[in-house]
Amino acid sequence: MEKRRILTGDRPTGKLHLGHYVGSLQNRVKLQHEYECFFILADLHTLTTKPEKSSVEEIATHTRDLVLDYIACGIDPDKSVIYLQSAVHEVYEMNLFFEMMVTVPRLQRIPSLKDMAKSADLQEMPFGLLGYPILQAADILMPRAHLVPVGKDNESHVELTREIARRFNYLYGDVFNIPDVLIGNVGSLVGTDGNTKMSKSLNNAIYLSDSARIVEKKVSGMYTDPNRVRADIPGTVEGNPVFIYHDVFNSDKGEVEDLKERYRTGRVGDVEVKQKLTRALNGFLDPIRDKREDIASRKGYVDEVIYEGTMKAREEARMTLQAMKKAMGISGIWNRISRKAEQARKSRS
Ligand code: ATP
Ligand code: MG
Repeated sequence: MEKRRILTGDRPTGKLHLGHYVGSLQNRVKLQHEYECFFILADLHTLTTKPEKSSVEEIATHTRDLVLDYIACGIDPDKSVIYLQSAVHEVYEMNLFFEMMVTVPRLQRIPSLKDMAKSADLQEMPFGLLGYPILQAADILMPRAHLVPVGKDNESHVELTREIARRFNYLYGDVFNIPDVLIGNVGSLVGTDGNTKMSKSLNNAIYLSDSARIVEKKVSGMYTDPNRVRADIPGTVEGNPVFIYHDVFNSDKGEVEDLKERYRTGRVGDVEVKQKLTRALNGFLDPIRDKREDIASRKGYVDEVIYEGTMKAREEARMTLQAMKKAMGISGIWNRISRKAEQARKSRS
């Protein structure tokens, strides 16, 4: 039996952080052998909030960084297809067909788009940003994926993809699977500033490639319980970012329980809690950093990975678009006209 498929990916707007890891990357690493995986380097999506030439110029660097992060975390590039979205032109066409199947009010109800516009300081919603989830549907349906591992903020986008796939199948016949969403271990990891989402654009992230010193600095500046002005005052553990990170990244569960107990009863200072978190995070990140450095030193390797993956994705996209156009009857229009034109030319000569 053929393997079921995964599609997911990231916008090349910077390096990956701990939120990406727990939201999606961890599931990718876990499922990469069980599924046939397509990982999209979604550069067209960066244009929705950053269309300037200067931002476009940064895409290549960010794209390579994403791939370094993937491989450093354990993605095997020989097993998975890692590809550049903008180099797969069929997806642009798929996007257009899908645009006909969604209403504007349906898109306006998607909460993440407003958040994106806000964090990008956009006064009004660009048409392309409103259409972001439609392009994402084209990405997901291109390899006819069964499963989409993403963070919580993307759940509503996958829901729209399911609606589009159903609508297409209803109108033209069964071409697409209805993909399922898979939310990570932590659907939305808090930022170091206590904001509900760690994000590249909010300057509240710990990156997978941050040095041990930087991690220490970021942790020591982390937001904790604001009411706790002294170490001997009982503090709140629930919802406290420092303890959320301890729960997720500190494998020494005994240490975490001891810290929580002492925090609640005013018997431990923030400094100790943060030092232990720094140690846990660096323990988690050390092997990732080592692998990243190793891969980065192999000249041209990352470009080759992207090239190979993109060629495979192109082939897949060509087949899907062909199936779509055939089901819709769109390809038949041109086929008939060109055949008649050919016959007319021949009969004249
Ligand atoms: P940007 O700020 O540029 O939008 P981002 O940090 O939101 O970047 P994306 O590339 O938009 O990252 O998201 C990539 C994937 O990572 C998505 O599946 C998203 O849901 C997930 N993700 C991003 N941030 C978090 C987070 N803090 N917690 C859990 N998952 C996250
Ligand atoms: Mg985002």
